[in-house]
Amino acid sequence: MSMQISYQKTSNPKAKPASSELVFGHYFSDHMFIMNYTEGRGWYDPRIVPYGPLQLDPSVMIFHYGQATFEGLKAYQAADGRILLFRPSANMARMNISNERLCIPQLDEAFAVEAIKALVNYDQDWIPDGEGNSLYIRPFVIATDPYLGVRPAHNYLFMVVLSPVGAYYPEGIDPVKIYVESNYVRAVKGGLGFTKTPGNYAASLKAQEEAQENGYTQVLWLDGVEKKYIEEVGTMNVFFKINGEVITPSLEGSILAGITRDSTIKLLRSWNIPVVERKISIDELYAAHANGQFEEAFGTGTAAVISPIGELSYNGRNITINDGTIGPVSQKVYDTITGIQSGVVEDKFGWTVEVK
Ligand SMILES: *Cc1c(COP(=O)(O)O)cnc(C)c1O
Repeated sequence: MSMQISYQKTSNPKAKPASSELVFGHYFSDHMFIMNYTEGRGWYDPRIVPYGPLQLDPSVMIFHYGQATFEGLKAYQAADGRILLFRPSANMARMNISNERLCIPQLDEAFAVEAIKALVNYDQDWIPDGEGNSLYIRPFVIATDPYLGVRPAHNYLFMVVLSPVGAYYPEGIDPVKIYVESNYVRAVKGGLGFTKTPGNYAASLKAQEEAQENGYTQVLWLDGVEKKYIEEVGTMNVFFKINGEVITPSLEGSILAGITRDSTIKLLRSWNIPVVERKISIDELYAAHANGQFEEAFGTGTAAVISPIGELSYNGRNITINDGTIGPVSQKVYDTITGIQSGVVEDKFGWTVEVK
């Protein structure tokens, strides 16, 4: 598919926020990408236009039945001036996996990556200066038929918006306290857990709110059937180092296949650190802690890259991991991935893609 992207420049460029004000997801760049889909015609009219409100009929299906998918990745300003994306093709491949499950038509993955590059290039002045700062990229698809019947839509919008974001850890990495959720569940096998779709996040809000009220940063989800096996943390996959071996829950259909998760596994293997994907129960973790074998725990995701876990609370029993400090493996994964993203560590895997 070769489609020509049209450009309409804003006549009202916005003031850019200072680096110190970069709250996640609060500011948006001057332009956005839009492309339409209509059944029988396919995707058409790719365009970069001034960022602004959409005009949508109140009955469009996204508002009522949540047929939508999204992605999240970042553009980084490398030390040598290049603008780098991290594995964008993996994001668009995953978006098509989500689309398939949500009955949303497939996107041309290569074209979607071109659209992201074109938008980032056009708004490259919005990539904030300063170490650890980046431009967050949010591609998404919504169903736009004005219709209240329940069925897959015949019309969609694929859009991309950009948001300058600050370093996740401006004052150094601080391990988080995590609440192990034993009441609410996020997803079950056969449902939507492996997709990035709005409903999964709506389902998580109540537990997240209660955990925060109790002084915890995020929720660790257990499986939705037995409430025994570990799934993931909020918007992060999770890894545990026990007695020299790194363990991460296997992808059984209810958790998201994170790109940071995959990168972490590949890096650990390249360093000959044993890493396994398997079911792991919360009881096994607590037993490993009791035996003194629970060495490190960390979450992985685009936003924070690595988020060390310093404390877990499960059914009123609290345990501290690695004295509440970041462990050496967590630190090494963090330094390597952020180094590759900012172009200062050699990219042996060919993960970065230059925006031209
Ligand atoms: C996006 C996301 C992740 C992390 O995926 P990355 O590709 O590493 O950013 C993990 N879990 C959930 C539920 C997510 O939405």
